[in-house]
Amino acid sequence: MSDVSVIGVGDMGSAIARTLLAAGLAVTVWNRSDAKVRPLVERGATAAVSARAAIEASPAALLCVSDYPATMALLEGTTRALHGRLIVQFASGTPAQARALETKIRQAGGRYLDGAIGAWPRQVGSPDASFTLAGNADDFAAARPLLDLMGGQLAHVGPDVGHAKAYANAGLAYFAGHWIGFAQGAAVLETEGLDPAMLGDTLASMGPILATDMQRMGRAIAAEAFDEAESTVKTIAGDLRWLAELADATGAEAEFARLAAALFARARDLGLGDKQHSAIIKVLRGPLAAPVPPS
Ligand code: NAP
Repeated sequence: MSDVSVIGVGDMGSAIARTLLAAGLAVTVWNRSDAKVRPLVERGATAAVSARAAIEASPAALLCVSDYPATMALLEGTTRALHGRLIVQFASGTPAQARALETKIRQAGGRYLDGAIGAWPRQVGSPDASFTLAGNADDFAAARPLLDLMGGQLAHVGPDVGHAKAYANAGLAYFAGHWIGFAQGAAVLETEGLDPAMLGDTLASMGPILATDMQRMGRAIAAEAFDEAESTVKTIAGDLRWLAELADATGAEAEFARLAAALFARARDLGLGDKQHSAIIKVLRGPLAAPVPPS
């Protein structure tokens, strides 16, 4: 028996396997294509011949393939192997997919935690990595010594296995705006012959301001309290209209700027003009969303 198996050793799974090997664990690995397994075997990992063999090889298996459909497919025919095993799934997906996978694994007599990774592969094993786990508290306690080897921060967000992917998708929503917004700004600078690297340096120096804003937005939305406004919805709606016009005028792709301007204009037209910018949540909740009060 190995201490742990890692199934799916692409960029992230390899980083996890390398970290666990470096911590001195006996690690079994399996990957659909062989080439990614070889460098890990050179570092001391054992290659399994199938996903089922990898599950059988260890009391716990960490799954890191692309998504839940791929995970479900590779678990076909592993029912007996899953009995008594602890499975931790790190692929991206939705809360509903995590709950469906938990049902499948529990029906086979296995235990299940769902996880989200807040790190680039090179940060795994460093204090900068963070891992968010959801699922049964006893299973989390059992997995903790293993998970502690993988990085700086480890959070357990409760027994509902869907909640790790809820946090993961919330973070992804933030990063989507961050990535597209940054590139939109860089595209504008390029049309003026200016250096996008300067944009990175300038925004990085604003890190503490951005951190404060995120915390203030979270608290304002949780309390539904948008009156304390240092920057208002109507000001931002106006600013974004000029950004959209600038992007259009330079020939840059303006879809993102127009979308952002339209969302803030809609909030202003709903009568939220004098509210703090976080009041944009009232547009983004949408007419059909059904918020559940925090437990
Ligand atoms: P990746 O390098 O593209 O690796 C994907 C892995 O999934 C490979 O091992 C691939 O096998 C396997 N795979 C895909 N489809 C499969 C199938 N049908 N059957 C069996 N195996 C299959 O991606 P990654 O960056 O490691 O990401 C893996 C997961 O980690 C994703 O859900 C991603 O969202 C999450 N994640 C990644 C990062 C990151 O920075 N990279 C950060 C946080 C979370 P082959 O090698 O045979 O193609």
